[in-house]
Amino acid sequence: MSKKYPKVDRKKCTGCGSCAAVCSASPNVFEMEGDKVKVVNPEACTECNSCLDVCPTKAVTIVSSKKEK
Ligand code: SF4
Ligand code: SF4
Repeated sequence: MSKKYPKVDRKKCTGCGSCAAVCSASPNVFEMEGDKVKVVNPEACTECNSCLDVCPTKAVTIVSSKKEK
């Protein structure tokens, strides 16, 4: 089984917060941390791709994860 989840390139992230604002997952996948956003609840992602569309710097990508353990 592989699951897709978002990943943030912190070098590209401007901390605008748009991804966190648009994410409809519960709990929110993103959380602000200082002047960047970080992925805190990747397993909650519904793969709606909204965050990809709103990110002005394309810092968010969806990656596949092979099941660990
Ligand atoms: S793809 Fe949708 S559910 Fe997943 S992190 Fe982005 S906005 Fe949230
Ligand atoms: S939308 Fe993009 S630039 Fe804005 S906080 Fe999210 S990852 Fe960072």
